[in-house]
Amino acid sequence: NPTAIRKPGEKLALKDNTGRPESTVRLPDVEIPEGIEGCIGKTPLFKIKSLSDATGCEILAKAEFLNGAGNSPKDRVALNIIKMAEEEGLLTPNSGDMIYEGTVGSTGISLAAICRARGYLAHICMPDDQATEKADLLLKLGAEVERLRPAPIIDQNQFVNTARRRALEHTADPTKLGRGIFADQFENEANWQAHFNGTGPEIYAQTNGHLDAFVSGAGTGGTISGVSLFLKPKLPKLKVVLADPEGSGLFNRVKYGVMFDVKEREGTKRRSQVDTAVEGIGINRVTANFEAGRELVDDAVRVSDEQAIAMARWLVEKDGIFVGSSSAVNCVAATMLALKMGPGHRIVTILCDSGTRHLSKFWAQAGAIGGEVDISLDDVLKAGEKE
Ligand code: PMP
Repeated sequence: NPTAIRKPGEKLALKDNTGRPESTVRLPDVEIPEGIEGCIGKTPLFKIKSLSDATGCEILAKAEFLNGAGNSPKDRVALNIIKMAEEEGLLTPNSGDMIYEGTVGSTGISLAAICRARGYLAHICMPDDQATEKADLLLKLGAEVERLRPAPIIDQNQFVNTARRRALEHTADPTKLGRGIFADQFENEANWQAHFNGTGPEIYAQTNGHLDAFVSGAGTGGTISGVSLFLKPKLPKLKVVLADPEGSGLFNRVKYGVMFDVKEREGTKRRSQVDTAVEGIGINRVTANFEAGRELVDDAVRVSDEQAIAMARWLVEKDGIFVGSSSAVNCVAATMLALKMGPGHRIVTILCDSGTRHLSKFWAQAGAIGGEVDISLDDVLKAGEKE
């Protein structure tokens, strides 16, 4: 019996005289994925043990950092944007066509990898205050990288506006091969549709339709909208909760129906989206992708940098899970919701990317985890709170 536990020192029964053991394990049927694109989607959903034990709820994480091209949920989005542009006849492989995008990093990384696989070039415009490893990785993937000073969306040199302009300039330039195509993840609805057709159905199937809440941050809003638009009609009682970092206007949009720049609000810290430690989520405008599912978002939770950092450290210490900042924000919000809903509920959230993308910024602030560290969940949720 190959599954029986052997006593120490006991030898495996040998079937022949080669001296090597013969396995009787039945091999599962496996499908060989077609290139890196075949490794996108079907990510595991797993229980975060420490948070589940501490809250009495089941807190389940969709491991989107295991998408196999650019290692984030943006793989699904980048692939769908490219496929839809191809269907519309906007892209021709190996013709010099170049995809332009404004991104804080993840979408650029996914686009750059998939562009390589499909015969396109990538030009990525990103703010220069993001973790440097993202720009380094983009260059290694052969993308052109333009790092720009953070600026409000009304500024023509803001990273999204620059990418849009560069695409037009490319197409108009007779010395350039191919066309310039602006991917436009914020407004292009191929974004939420990728989650409507992938992430949402996967969560539904992996939970057998048994879930009480879905918690997600929003950058473009594609994830929260696409997943909610799929799940809510099937599960009308499902609670959808936005996890929002400091400086983002979406919290107010969801809670109070108005969106205003927090910098102008009396009594709040003068702090803008760009100088938090959290990357990828939080925004001060309502994009087409957020708007698509906005009415389905039931509530919002505000998460501070300090709470996100404490949670990131907790996840390493208790579970060996090493994630980036937006995943940590999601886990803080999921935990708060679990405590509010009470034991026995099942909450699904997203782990967007790995901590390796955030070593020079978020994790530099979080510091190293020592063997002696022992924090309580209360410490995590109250992190940064003034006496
Ligand atoms: N986490 C990370 C690391 C991201 O880069 C992004 C997208 N900018 C998100 C979360 C948010 O996802 P979405 O754009 O679908 O709202």
